[in-house]
Amino acid sequence: MAKRDYYEVLSVARDASDEEIKKSYRKLAIKYHPDKNPGDKAAEEKFKELSEAYEALSDQQKRAAYDQYGHAAFDPRARSRGGGGFHDPFDIFREVFGGGGGSSIFGDIFGESRRDPAGPERGADLRYDMELSFEEAALGCEREISVTKMDSCERCHGSGAEAGSTHKNCPPCGGRGQVISSRGIFSIAQTCPRCQGAGRIIEKPCRVCEGSGRQERGSKIKIKVPPGVDTGTRLRSNGNGEGGSRGGPPGDLYVVLHVKAHEIFEREGDDLICEVPVQFVQAALGAEIEVPTLTGKASIRVPEGTQPGTVFRLKGKGVKNIQGYGWGDLHVRVSVEVPTRLNHAQRTKLQEFAGLCDASVNPLSRGFFEKAKRFFG
Ligand SMILES: [Zn+2]
Ligand SMILES: [Zn+2]
Repeated sequence: MAKRDYYEVLSVARDASDEEIKKSYRKLAIKYHPDKNPGDKAAEEKFKELSEAYEALSDQQKRAAYDQYGHAAFDPRARSRGGGGFHDPFDIFREVFGGGGGSSIFGDIFGESRRDPAGPERGADLRYDMELSFEEAALGCEREISVTKMDSCERCHGSGAEAGSTHKNCPPCGGRGQVISSRGIFSIAQTCPRCQGAGRIIEKPCRVCEGSGRQERGSKIKIKVPPGVDTGTRLRSNGNGEGGSRGGPPGDLYVVLHVKAHEIFEREGDDLICEVPVQFVQAALGAEIEVPTLTGKASIRVPEGTQPGTVFRLKGKGVKNIQGYGWGDLHVRVSVEVPTRLNHAQRTKLQEFAGLCDASVNPLSRGFFEKAKRFFG
């Protein structure tokens, strides 16, 4: 695949200032950071591409080389032009945003308070997609779901340490959380790989979770679905996300609902729509007909001469409003069924009937054909 132009990747002009380049990188790197887009390969690729582009253009020497030679400037076979490989995108990210390491940087960027990387950390929020029947959504229900997630370790209760063990300064970095490595003429401060920037390590890590304080566990969670939810409704189950680290609080579980279609009802907000076939004799003579509702049956009076498409409203027989503003209505739309497969006797009666009719019993037809006649001159 052809490499994209670095200026294009960072969406900056070719004469952009260092400040503009940095600003654009910051904006885009947050957008495509893998922590913000878990499992999204495309975002991960974008993140890598961005960091490479930023690394090249934020360095005067490298930028000049790129302007002159393009991507060839960084060909490993052309090191003499100031080329060579690129650094780990996460290191670039940390360098630009400052801060010690781990996810605490992310917390800072996204508005959480700065915290000790060795201190308690809230668990991640989780999403669970749940399918509901039409009735369950309209009337509410209770469901039990199984979720496999990272939870607090049962052995160490989330501390990450064996009983009686304490924290001590991390030997490789001496408690600073960073180690200095040199790459050619550069020396670069990197997050300490041993303590991940925390500066402290656990003397005897918990045997079960290996010091992370968390372990993967399946759990069953009861979800109460209130009446009136619809596709796209998001329910929050407090504290049922992933377990926190080092004694931090758990995240929340978000249940996103998907409602299946119904065989006879359609939904429009809190209102229900149902099409009910009526025999043509009933429509002509009027009749009491039975109609379905969500909770049982109701009957409506179809008056004499009811036309197809007529809508009858049953007040309050719709769906309960999720914000508590009462109930929607049920709209019953009448479709008039024309009889088929008539036998001889039925046919004879209908012909007899037709013979008795004049234009006055079919005012719609009469009106229409009169207009048509004028139209055709
Ligand atoms: Zn443990
Ligand atoms: Zn360390």
